[in-house]
Amino acid sequence: MKYTARQISTLDTLKFDNRFIRELPADPDSSNRLRQVHRACYSRVQPTPVTAPSLVVYAREVAELLNLDSAACQTDEFVQLFVGNRLLPGMDPYASCYGGHQFGNWAGQLGDGRAINLGEIINRKGERWTLQLKGAGPTPYARQADGLAVLRSSLREFLCSEAMYHLGVPTTRALSLLLTGEQVTRDMFYDGHPKDEPGAVVCRVAPSFTRFGSFQIFTWRNQIEQLRQLVDYTIRTDFPQLGAPSEKVYLQWFEEVCRRTAAMIVHWMRVGFVHGVMNTDNMSILGLTIDYGPYGWLEDYNPDWTPNTTDAQGGRYRFGNQPQIALWNLAQLANAIYPLIEQVEPLEEALQLYGDCYKQGWQEMMAQKLGLKKFDPATDLPLTAELAKVLRLVETDMTIFYRMLADVGADDHADGDSLFKPLLDAYYQPEELTEENKAQVIGWLRTYRQRIATDRLSTEQRRRQMNAVNPKYVLRNYLAQLAIDKSEAGDHSLVNELLEVMRHPYDEQPGNEEFAQKRPEWARHRAGCSMLSCSS
Ligand code: AMP
Ligand code: MG
Repeated sequence: MKYTARQISTLDTLKFDNRFIRELPADPDSSNRLRQVHRACYSRVQPTPVTAPSLVVYAREVAELLNLDSAACQTDEFVQLFVGNRLLPGMDPYASCYGGHQFGNWAGQLGDGRAINLGEIINRKGERWTLQLKGAGPTPYARQADGLAVLRSSLREFLCSEAMYHLGVPTTRALSLLLTGEQVTRDMFYDGHPKDEPGAVVCRVAPSFTRFGSFQIFTWRNQIEQLRQLVDYTIRTDFPQLGAPSEKVYLQWFEEVCRRTAAMIVHWMRVGFVHGVMNTDNMSILGLTIDYGPYGWLEDYNPDWTPNTTDAQGGRYRFGNQPQIALWNLAQLANAIYPLIEQVEPLEEALQLYGDCYKQGWQEMMAQKLGLKKFDPATDLPLTAELAKVLRLVETDMTIFYRMLADVGADDHADGDSLFKPLLDAYYQPEELTEENKAQVIGWLRTYRQRIATDRLSTEQRRRQMNAVNPKYVLRNYLAQLAIDKSEAGDHSLVNELLEVMRHPYDEQPGNEEFAQKRPEWARHRAGCSMLSCSS
């Protein structure tokens, strides 16, 4: 969308309307000392100034949401504001209080340890957007940590937020990535090898950053009045279509959260995204993907894979377990809001609704990925079950496989190896495929071809449908790492280039095919490519 020059705001015309802090209970203490914060949703806190900030990259689409043009994003003022060195009139920075279950255990108070909200903007469309700096210094919730973030993890968060948005996955957004000019010490794998890394700040943007854990903390503390305030506020602000808060509306709201969460997980499964740390403090009440840490993209299709080395043993947050974990997290949210509803049955029914929505969403999604008009359980449950086996015979790149599948013609009479040929590129080691494996893939392809023939779509129609949901370009783990390596050496060209490629993930992009390649061998065991930790 184009704005005329008159409509574009410069930075100092940004208008803030800080409803969260205006309507919700504040922590009366405004010092920046560590503490337990009772009966409050947030604590006021100032970002910590830094000495030599500089811009790495910004997202013009997110700037547009704030009615800012690109020129405004390339000024020194922009850098000073979004690193946390300067505030605009109307900004009133705060960190919010929340708790959470981490890896299945209740962890007590967590809160924004290194995220500082600057305020909320209402754009010209009347949308409300909260601006949040991540890595701009410690807050009362920083616990033992420094409140900072490093370039490595911040670049991953910036790029992935935007890549997910362009893939059509609900997500928080990222306006900017800045270097602080200061060094931050991190022991990446917590194994006694600390290293200095460049410090960075991302400005995240979302309608709200409220998490399941934001509600849990009040129930855990038996602060039911504050729980009610936050639920009422969330309904009025983020779910206004539900009407004025009441017991009935609380339930409708929880059902809506279940529906949105189901939809988000279906998208993750569609594109091969593994969040890596689905703790309840990392679950957005809006059903947005939030808190990009040790996430990863499935390369070879392996539902048991998680990029997070901290979770390697238990695999709680592995790809294939994400739908179950979301349900578990929703059950924790149901427990948290129970005091407002005091009936078990309707909450259980809503959790059932999550299951139903997920199942239906998954079937629709699989039908689209396979280019079917409609998912017919009679034929398509066995078809997809067999496909899951076929994808696991040997290392098979999920993204390339689905993209190439669109080239298997419904009406051509290819068989044997030539039927199989379009898919060859999806295999990491095609020579590993035994004759038996090949026969199994070919067998599946024959069934698939019969199935698509019944739909009578032209190959072209089907290809178009499939390519609109099966991305060609995803933020492969090694691509982000290459951009990190370059940026750490002072060259930010690749992060900018990747952002541009990820803007059109479903398009063929002549000249950019290198970004659609399978993971190269060097990246198989390299830190940052297949192994990540929570250190960030
Ligand atoms: P995460 O696992 O990244 O979702 O973080 C869990 C909690 O730790 C959140 O409350 C974060 O704010 C906090 N946290 C993580 N890293 C830092 C840090 N470097 N400084 C302060 N708080 C942090
Ligand atoms: Mg978090």
